[in-house]
Amino acid sequence: MQPAITIGGQEVKAGTRASIHLPLPEFYTYAPTTMPIHVVHGRNPGPCLLITSTVHGDEINGIEIIRRVLGHKSLSRIKGTVILIPVVNVFGFVARSRYLPDRRDLNRSFPGSPKGSMAGRLAHVMMSELIPNCTHIIDLHTGAIDRENLPQIRATLNGDSKLEAMAKAFNAPVVLDAEVREGTFRETAHSLGIPTLVYEAGEALRFDEVSIRAGVAGILNILSHLEMTRKRTRKKEHQPFIAKRSQWVRAPQSGIARSLVALGDRVSQGDDLAFISDPFGEHEEVVKSPASGIVIGRTRLPLVHEGEAIFHIAIFSKTSVAAESVENFQDAFDPDTDTTESEERPLVG
Ligand SMILES: [Zn+2]
Repeated sequence: MQPAITIGGQEVKAGTRASIHLPLPEFYTYAPTTMPIHVVHGRNPGPCLLITSTVHGDEINGIEIIRRVLGHKSLSRIKGTVILIPVVNVFGFVARSRYLPDRRDLNRSFPGSPKGSMAGRLAHVMMSELIPNCTHIIDLHTGAIDRENLPQIRATLNGDSKLEAMAKAFNAPVVLDAEVREGTFRETAHSLGIPTLVYEAGEALRFDEVSIRAGVAGILNILSHLEMTRKRTRKKEHQPFIAKRSQWVRAPQSGIARSLVALGDRVSQGDDLAFISDPFGEHEEVVKSPASGIVIGRTRLPLVHEGEAIFHIAIFSKTSVAAESVENFQDAFDPDTDTTESEERPLVG
């Protein structure tokens, strides 16, 4: 039997589950604030997987992913521990904002400090209360407001075969081998040697059924990969492809954009991606793709300023194979084409 685990001064015994409300700095109304944490502490020892969502306060897909994972039967008999935090940035979440009341981005404020500003203190709470317990991390994100992302894993692989195996095990259609930004939760955890995946899918302030289903399946795949649960038969229709590079396409002029490509579409260098024009359709410019690849991010708002990033294209060594896999992935998780039985009633967008 594994020893009890203590978070926020609360002890959780082996073979039990607990909801903990970790105290955070108060609002200036003196309203007490807490971070909700759910701990599933297995009977037998094993890895400790930390799953975080809503580090950016308006990115809410992960909350629904965590709710579904918590209700899944496979969590009733795990080896090791799963710690799930549906809302890390409680302050931003209340304000429906990516940021904190101190206007800082929590995901640029790690590792933080007990004497820092609000964001720094919140980061420090994560570092002191949660990081010491965990061996692996999955951090759930979405695109920003009015920007949608194709489900994708971001990790800094750097030839790390164990991390690469974990990134692939999640089974999102795309793994972006991306450089880490300083001050992110991922960078800080990575520098401490904790294998960390970021799952990016959907857009801010919206639920997206395909992104949610793929996220739930991904987490269950990781639990099985880390041998915390029994082997899981994975959907075989698609496999993840690693993109070593990606490119943003920016608006060549300000105006009203008409997009010609959807998320997950395959594009070739020189293809038309969108038209941008004034309201009369005069002064129209065609946005061409600067590279061949797959559209993994896209603006949803047709109103753009010159220089604004409007498409994100992932570049693969074999675009055609990756594109086919993306298509199969979408069929596998789209409630209309998914043939496997799901316990959850699909959310309608
Ligand atoms: Zn984010």
